Amino acid sequence: MATLIDGKKISNDIEMELAEEVRELVSRGLRPPHLAAVLVGDDGPSRTYVRNKIRACETVGYKSSLIKFAADVTEARLVEEIERLNKDDEIDGYIVQLPLPEHISVERITDHINHRKDVDGFTPTNFGKIDQEHHSHLPATPMGVMELLKRYAIQTKGKHCVVVGKSHIVGMPMGILLAGPGDATVTICHIFTQELARYTRMADILVVAVGKPNLITADMVKEGVVVIDVGINRVPDDTKKSGYALRGDVDFEAIEPKASFITPVPGGVGPMTIASLIMNTMAAYKARQGLAESLTE
Ligand code: NAP
Repeated sequence: MATLIDGKKISNDIEMELAEEVRELVSRGLRPPHLAAVLVGDDGPSRTYVRNKIRACETVGYKSSLIKFAADVTEARLVEEIERLNKDDEIDGYIVQLPLPEHISVERITDHINHRKDVDGFTPTNFGKIDQEHHSHLPATPMGVMELLKRYAIQTKGKHCVVVGKSHIVGMPMGILLAGPGDATVTICHIFTQELARYTRMADILVVAVGKPNLITADMVKEGVVVIDVGINRVPDDTKKSGYALRGDVDFEAIEPKASFITPVPGGVGPMTIASLIMNTMAAYKARQGLAESLTE
């Protein structure tokens, strides 16, 4: 029987800690931190994610701004807005919600984001600083996973961590964080990995970020494994008003009895991505206000 890693509770704790900090800042006559979110188009899940991010800002007492564009906005117009946000003294950090429409290059957009305001941690500069002591903003989801492991006192040092998925925003930075600051031995698996189960069975800590429900089944893990399920999949469910349920990438019911720790979906990694975002926004704010060591060049 595994211990459930309760990301919802940990993210609530972090929100309470930040809310206290904001109250203290405001009582000293300072303005609260300000996060902006850029949303392009009308993608349902993206709207939900952005709404949750804005709601978290309200909970902790940050100011927030939602900047919406139609799906046919040009890349040039979006770049213009990003340059404006870079210069806006009132904005401490901002995110550009992914995915973007196909005619817009995520890479080109990310290249324009000032890394000090990149609270998602997606820019090449922030990616390049992941394993440096004086990093600026870590990628939000892997940062959230590391925070969960820390708060549940799960040691990574010397452990074999297997990461399934090698995306720029989750799998790759996750691997670097675990091998760098985490001092773990890391295997990164992906679509071309042959005999995936051979590697997942060796994992002391298994992080799965693919986007395929039930990709990881009980026969693919060893007894006592720590399972971090990053995947978020909508699967049809007639019992729900929405017509779908959220599932991760692992077969939770079958794996839970074998695991020592496991994250649920929803309520595991998802809330921690938002918690990281608001932690990064606080760090950006403090650096801009001269309240902390400035973020590195
Ligand atoms: P992504 O960019 O689509 O990357 C998926 C990765 O999985 C790729 O590296 C791909 O390999 C690999 N992959 C695909 N099929 C595979 C298979 N059968 N076996 C092994 N590897 C396979 O996705 P992402 O942005 O990283 O997101 C992954 C999942 O996490 C999604 O469900 C997403 O919704 C969720 N997510 C959750 C949060 C959160 O806050 N909880 C945040 C971000 C993402 P190749 O690179 O070789 O194609």
